[in-house]
Parts: sequence; C-alpha cells; structure tokens
Amino acid sequence: MDFDLPDTAIAVRDGVAAVAAKYDHAYWSRCEDEKRYPEELYADLADGGWLGLSVPEEYGGGGQGLLETAIACETLCASGGTAGSFIYVLNPGFGVTTLARHGTEEQKQEILPGLATGEVQFSFGLTEPDAGSNAIEITTSARADGDDFLIKGQKVWISNVERADWMVVVTRTVPAAEARPRTSGFTLFLVDVKAALADGTLSYTPIPKMGSNILYSSQVFLDDVRVPAHRVLGEVDQGFAVLWDVLNPERIIAAAGAVGGADAALEVASDYARERVVFGRPIGSNQSIQFPLAQIKAKTELARLMTYKAAWLFDQGRPCASEANVAKLTAAQASWEAADQAFQTLGGMAYSKEYPVERMFRDARIGKNIPVSEQMVLAHIGTSMLKLPKSY
Ligand SMILES: Cc1cc2nc3c(=O)[nH]c(=O)nc-3n(C[C@H](O)[C@H](O)[C@H](O)COP(=O)(O)OP(=O)(O)OC[C@H]3O[C@@H](n4cnc5c(N)ncnc54)[C@H](O)[C@@H]3O)c2cc1C
Repeated sequence: MDFDLPDTAIAVRDGVAAVAAKYDHAYWSRCEDEKRYPEELYADLADGGWLGLSVPEEYGGGGQGLLETAIACETLCASGGTAGSFIYVLNPGFGVTTLARHGTEEQKQEILPGLATGEVQFSFGLTEPDAGSNAIEITTSARADGDDFLIKGQKVWISNVERADWMVVVTRTVPAAEARPRTSGFTLFLVDVKAALADGTLSYTPIPKMGSNILYSSQVFLDDVRVPAHRVLGEVDQGFAVLWDVLNPERIIAAAGAVGGADAALEVASDYARERVVFGRPIGSNQSIQFPLAQIKAKTELARLMTYKAAWLFDQGRPCASEANVAKLTAAQASWEAADQAFQTLGGMAYSKEYPVERMFRDARIGKNIPVSEQMVLAHIGTSMLKLPKSY
C-alpha cells in the first residue's frame, strides 16, 4: 500500500494553489456579496490548464483522472471556501468525467476541446420540484419525434444555467409508473442550452439563496426542447447506469471541496486563536477552543483519505459508491463543523463581514443537504454496507 500522492496529483495541487493564492478571502467575499462569478480566477485556472486537467490528451487536456480533479477542487476550496467546488463539480465533473466515460466519439470531439480550455461550461438537470432525493420519480419526459427527441418538464435548483453551453438533462423515456424495473426508462441528453434559450424552448428563473451566490441556481422550464438523437448520452432507456457515473464523481468532487472548505475554516480559526489575547493569554491555549478545532482537524484528515480512495477507485473503473458516500458524509460534516467552530472561535467578530467566517458558515451548511442529503447517504451506507432493510 502506498499513501504517497502520485506526482501528477502533487503538480495539480501546487499549480492550483499558486493560482488560488492570488485571490484572497476578500475577493471571494466580494464575489459572493456582488453575486458575481469569479471570472478572473476562472480565467487564471483555465490559462494554467487546471480546468482541462482531466480532459484526455487527444482532445487537448491534461489526461488526468478524478483523483487529480478532486485534489484541484480541494486546493481551490482550501483557499476560498466551499463555494469554489461548483467550478470543479460543474465542468470537470458533469462535463469532462461524464463525456470521457460515456460520450460518443462525435460528442467528445465536439465538446471536450472547449472544456480543456475552459471556454465551454456545463450544468446538470436532475432535481425537480417533486423529485429530489427520490430521483427515480422524475417526470421530465423525452419523446421521439422523427430523428429527434422533444424534452418537456421542469427542473429546480439547476446551477450555472446562465453561463452553461450544455446541460446534461435527465429524463424519463418510460414513465416511472410503467418502468420495470423502476430504474429503467431513464435517458440522459446533452442539451445545447444557448440554442434552446434562443428558440425559447428553455427558460430559467434564478432562486434567491442564502449563499454560494457566485453563480445562480435556477428553476428551469423545458418546453419541447428539440434534441437530435446523436446527443443522447449512453443509450436510450438505459440512462440509470450513466447517471451513477455522474452522481458518484459529483459526490467525490463535492467531498473534496468540503475537505478544502474545512481546511480553510480551520486555518482562519487557528490564525485568530493564536493571535487573539483574552484574560492575558491567546484564546487558542484554552482547551475549549483548541480541542474542538483539533477534533475537527482529525475528522478532516479522515475525510480527505476517504475522498482520495473513492476518486482512485473511480479512476480504476471499480465500484466506488460506498466510498463516495462515506467521503461525502464525513467531508460535509467536517466542513460544517469547521465553519461552526470557526464561528465560535471568532466570538463577536465572526458576525462581521471583515472576516470570511460568516460566508463560510452559510456556504458550508448546504453541503450537508446537497448534492445528496446526509439522510440519503446514511440510508445508502445502512442498506449497502450493513445490509439493513430499506426504509423507502
Ligand atoms: C445551492 C444548490 C445547488 C444545487 N444544484 C443542483 C444542480 O445543479 N442540479 C440538480 O439537479 N440539482 C441541484 N440541486 C438540488 C439538490 O441536489 C437537492 O436539493 C438535493 O438532492 C435534495 O433534494 P430535495 O431538496 O428535493 O430534498 P427532499 O428530497 O425534499 O428531502 C428533504 C429532506 O427530507 C429527507 N428525506 C427524504 N426522504 C427521506 C427518507 N426516506 N428517509 C430519511 N430522510 C428523508 C432528506 O434527507 C432531506 O433532508 C441544488 C441544490 C442547492 C440548494
């Protein structure tokens, strides 16, 4: 067994860290407050090749895997907080990882070079108003129309539509009530977002939200969006297996972002606790301040290891669902606990916008609910790893 990171991963970590170091907490807080995408940072990451790092070399990328993608995401979030994970979940995740494994040659040639340079952006449409945790119940339909399909339905909470060139849209080509088994009848499509916006078949409404305001998360309306058959991802009616190759990497990259977010919050808290003197001594020498931070540090290190293992398994083409879920569960908890304890450590100053802790606190909390909730992850661990009966 070898716990040393491969040289490729170390190069990614160092490269992303060098870019991220140019953008301080004040930059991230400004983007959040002004509700604007970190364009300068994104362009810098693209220039360095840190967005296309997992695009296969023949399409212009760095030829790395999910492990390196996860480490890039972790490193970015260790610099600015968990919101940065959207950048890696969306494009290297939903875009590159999905296409590299399930795209046709034509789809890869059309889209991967743009993902390698960072010019092309992605979004992912799964969640619906009546189907979040129970994705099996989605009702967005795709029906054949000559050589095309027409997609109709509504999605909610879809991130990055406003910037996306492509959306991976999850549909039912067989309604849930008729599908046997119920996991059959799913079909995933690559929807050209800008074309569908232009012809009015796709529209969106941003949802005002508590944090992660560097991008929108929107309601999306699909009104007979026309998609040619060559834009099906995987096979018609057989999309469920493809979907898991979207969801597991999403959980792993999100876990990596949460580990990085925990690192960031622990760093802010520790810096403050070393310097802030109360009753004649640094507050960090008090065990009620030091021990919770130390406990969360230990949890963060465990979550980091499991995240790397899950990413490594995925790269080997091996099953990784249990590891992805354990990584996602523990990383999101570490991230939230780190933000919460950083908040406690800073006392009243935690509430001030002078420090990034109030932003980290808001952003870290949603990690326990998305991309999959803590309860659904525990249900997976209970039923798959412990073979307990299913509750739903
Ligand atoms: C900022 C943000 C960005 C997002 N971006 C995207 C995106 O880009 N694309 C996309 O498709 N989706 C996106 N989502 C949606 C996200 O994936 C869902 O919110 C998430 O999967 C949970 O679904 P839900 O909100 O419908 O919760 P629900 O399914 O309504 O669940 C509500 C609560 O009930 C619990 N619960 C439900 N059933 C059970 C059970 N049987 N046992 C125990 N507990 C249960 C859940 O764990 C949860 O705590 C985003 C959400 C947010 C907030």
